[in-house]
Amino acid sequence: MQNKKISRNLAHFISHDYCGITRARTFPEHRLDSNLKKGLCWTPANLALNPFGQIVENEWGALGDLIMLPDSSSEVHVAGTDSISPLRYFHADFLNMDGTPWEACPRQYLKRQLAKLELLGMKVIASFEHEFMLTDVEKPAPCFSLEAARSEEVLCSAITAALIEGGVDPEMCIPEYAARQFEVTCSPAEALQAADRAVNVREIVREVCRRQGRSVSFSPIISLNPGTNGVHVHVSLWSLDDKPLTYDPNRPGQLSEIASQFTAGILEHMAALTALTAPSVVSYQRLRPDSWSAAFACIGQQNREASIRIAPITHLDGCDAAKQANIEYRAADALASPHLTLGAILAAGIDGITKKLKMPDLVTVNPSSIPEDQHKKFGMHPLPSSLGQALDALDSDEVIKSSMGEMLVDCYRAIKRSEIALMQNKKDNEIRDSYSAVY
Ligand code: GLU
Ligand code: MG
Repeated sequence: MQNKKISRNLAHFISHDYCGITRARTFPEHRLDSNLKKGLCWTPANLALNPFGQIVENEWGALGDLIMLPDSSSEVHVAGTDSISPLRYFHADFLNMDGTPWEACPRQYLKRQLAKLELLGMKVIASFEHEFMLTDVEKPAPCFSLEAARSEEVLCSAITAALIEGGVDPEMCIPEYAARQFEVTCSPAEALQAADRAVNVREIVREVCRRQGRSVSFSPIISLNPGTNGVHVHVSLWSLDDKPLTYDPNRPGQLSEIASQFTAGILEHMAALTALTAPSVVSYQRLRPDSWSAAFACIGQQNREASIRIAPITHLDGCDAAKQANIEYRAADALASPHLTLGAILAAGIDGITKKLKMPDLVTVNPSSIPEDQHKKFGMHPLPSSLGQALDALDSDEVIKSSMGEMLVDCYRAIKRSEIALMQNKKDNEIRDSYSAVY
C-alpha cells in the first residue's frame, strides 16, 4: 500500500462582520482551487449576530443562502509551526446565489462608495493605526520606553515578521502611552486593501499572541488600566492616474479645495458616522474630552483632541509634501468593521464634495475649552455620548443611511440596539469586561 502524505493544513474564507468579528469558513487546503472558483455558502442570518453570539431579529430567519466568494488577491499566508498549520485565508464578498452583489455585504459597501468616488475621478489611499493592550503583563514598563519595547521583543518581533509575511507592510510596532499598550501602524494602501489590512492586523496580532500564549485586547477601554485603544484612519485623495489631490500649501490647514470639501462632509455627518465607527456601548467610555480620543466633531491641524486631525507633513529634502498630506479620522475603534468605517467616511466626504461644503475654521486649542457660543464658527458639535444617541443620529441622517441601503441599516440597528439592551443594567466596569472578553 502506498503511504500518501496528507496535508493537515487548513484554509479559510473570511468576512469581517458588522460587529468587527471575523467569521470564517474553514476547509482542507487541497480544496482551495475549487473553492476559490465556486465560493462557499453562507447563511444570511449569521450577519445578524451580535458580539455576544445572539442572532438578533432579522428579515431572513432560517431561510436563504449566500455565496461567500473569495477575492483571490486578498490572500494572507503566515507560515505555521511544527504543531500549528499556517494561517491562510482570503477576504470574501457575499453574493446572491445568482452571482449578483448582495446589498448588505460590508466589503461591497466600501466598494460601492469607491465606485462613486471613481465617477468623480478620484480614489482614496488609506491606512488604519491600531492600539491594543497586552492584558497579561503584570508589571508594565514605562510608556513609550525602550524597556517596554525590549521587554516585549519576543512578541513584537514575531508580530512584525508575521505582518510582513501576511502582506500588511507594518511601519511600526511601538509601546504606547497607556500601561500595557502597543500600537501597530502600516503603510498606506488603496482603500479596499487598507480596510482588508486593518482586519489582517487584528487577526495576525491575535494569531501571534495565541501562539505565544499571550492575551491581548483591542477593546476601546479595559478595566485593568486607564488609557484607551483607538483606531485612527488616515485618508488622502488621489486622481485615478496617481496624482496626490489633498495638498495645497496656500489654503487653511494646507488642504486643497477638494480635500477641504471632503473633510467638511465628514464633519457634517460625524454624529451618524460614530454609530458605525464607535459601534459599541463601551466605545462611549473612550470618546470623552481630554483623553486624546474625540469628544467633539471638529477639525484641527496636528491637534490630538480634534476628531479630524490634519496630519503633519515633513518638509525635509527629498520629502514630497503633496504625497504625504492626509487627514486622520480619530473617532473609530477596533470594534468597528474597517469596511463600514471607511465606506461611511467616504460617503460623508463625497457628500461634502457634491455639496461643495465649506470647511470651518481649524480648532487650534483643546476643543473642550471652546465656549458653546463659539462652536458654530468651528462647525463644532459634541459627538454622541452613547451608542443610543449615535444610532439616533444615524437614523436621522439620510445621506449615510441611503449609502448603506435599508437591509444593512435595519440589521445593523437591530444588532446594536440588542447590545444596548444587554448592557442596560451593567456598571461601567462590567460593560468594559463584557466587551474585552470578546475583543
Ligand atoms: N489612545 C488614544 C485613543 O484612544 C490615541 C492616542 C494617540 O494619539 O495615539 O484614540
Ligand atoms: Mg496612538
